[in-house]
Amino acid sequence: MADDGFMRNLPDEFLICRDRSIGHDWDVDTPFQLSRRMRSGSELIRTSRCTRCTMRRYEFFEHHSVRGYIVKLRTRYEPPEGYSDPTSGRVLNADVWVEQLRRIPPLPMPEQEQEPKRKSRTASKLRAVPNAS
Ligand SMILES: [Zn+2]
Repeated sequence: MADDGFMRNLPDEFLICRDRSIGHDWDVDTPFQLSRRMRSGSELIRTSRCTRCTMRRYEFFEHHSVRGYIVKLRTRYEPPEGYSDPTSGRVLNADVWVEQLRRIPPLPMPEQEQEPKRKSRTASKLRAVPNAS
C-alpha cells in the first residue's frame, strides 16, 4: 500500500488518472510508424500522451505483412515526475477514492426526512360535513 504522504501530495490531475474507473486521457502523438523490419513483416510504434497528467505511452505492434494481421507486442509507459510512488507501494483504487473524497468539501448531510403528515381523520370528516348555513 502506498504511504499516506505520497497520496496526499499527488496533484489532482495525477489522482484522477490513478483512478482506474477513469484512467488516462490518451491523445495520439504519432500514429503508427515503422520501428524496425522483422522477418515476418515490421514492428510498428505508436506514441500517445495523457492530456491530463502528461504520461507518455509507447505501444509496439507486429504487423505481419504476408498474413495482414497486426498484434500488440508490448507497451511502455513514461510517467511524469512525481506520478509514481518512490517506495513502489501499490496504490489501491479504494485509497485513490478516499483521497479524492478528502479533497472535496464535506458532503452535506441530507435533511432528516419527515414522516409524511397524515390527514387527520377528524379534519376530513369535518370537511365532508355539508355546510349547514
Ligand atoms: Zn494521465
